[in-house]
Amino acid sequence: MEIRRNQERNIAVEVKDLKYTYSKGLPYEKEALVSVNLLVFEGEAIGVLGHTGSGKSTLIQHLNGILMPDSGEVKIFGEKINNDKKFLKNLRKIVGIVFQFPEDELFAETVYEDVSFGPKNLGLTKEEIDERVLTSLIEVGLNESYLTRSPFSLSGGEKRRVAIASILSMRPKILVLDEPTSGLDPLGREEILKLIKRLKNDKKVTIILVSHSMEDVLSLVDRVYILNKGKVVFGGDTVSIFKDKDSIEKFDLSIPEIFILGEELKKEGFNIEEPFRDVEIAKKEIIRNLK
Ligand code: ADP
Repeated sequence: MEIRRNQERNIAVEVKDLKYTYSKGLPYEKEALVSVNLLVFEGEAIGVLGHTGSGKSTLIQHLNGILMPDSGEVKIFGEKINNDKKFLKNLRKIVGIVFQFPEDELFAETVYEDVSFGPKNLGLTKEEIDERVLTSLIEVGLNESYLTRSPFSLSGGEKRRVAIASILSMRPKILVLDEPTSGLDPLGREEILKLIKRLKNDKKVTIILVSHSMEDVLSLVDRVYILNKGKVVFGGDTVSIFKDKDSIEKFDLSIPEIFILGEELKKEGFNIEEPFRDVEIAKKEIIRNLK
């Protein structure tokens, strides 16, 4: 695919004046996206926030052609999404979407079968498929011993990781995750956050995170877009938004406690070099100050 450059960074996703109405022309038609504009650079992690019904899910379904714009455009690595079958097949290799509660979609008798389903449709050899399955499992923190297990015998967190592995086995360059930690226990949540960070930092996967969890957003993404009634009402740097009282109130966000701790310590005269985006950073900064 042709790659456009902007200030030395490739543009992974470009959405321009995107409009979408459900059941158009019918008495109960619903305008879900009024006008959405956004830009995501390759290798970046962005967050999409907004109340239920603001259009997040409708937006992400446009990123791999599940929905087609009524008007406006969606470009992935410079190419405008269209209805062509071959184009869509290729697009779905590039953009992987992990929907909410993806473990509900697991269907096969073994983990191997579930994770190999995508690659099997790509015309790869058995060796290539096996290699992808195993690599994807390792990426999500599982191992070979899971291959023959039934997905239904696994814990909630493990099931979710298998579901994510089945998307990663397509080797997407852009990974969209809709509420990836919701419903998990703290340990399961931690595993998923670590996994997303690894994909971003080590594999350079572009991440689009839809989340209600301000903790997840603060810990994972560089920039956020806030949607309201089908429009982007804010786009900006993650740390700045949590520092800005007006934005917090206006967009009805909550500030993660770990972030508040960092700001309080700074006021107390601690030399805090990095905003507290997660416990690891907080630990590092506090230990440095105590030395
Ligand atoms: P979010 O993901 O932010 O909760 P959605 O994209 O699901 O928002 O919904 C945006 C708007 O579109 C809401 O008003 C919702 O009720 C409506 N909507 C979503 N899916 C459908 C559908 N399949 N048919 C009709 N209206 C829908």
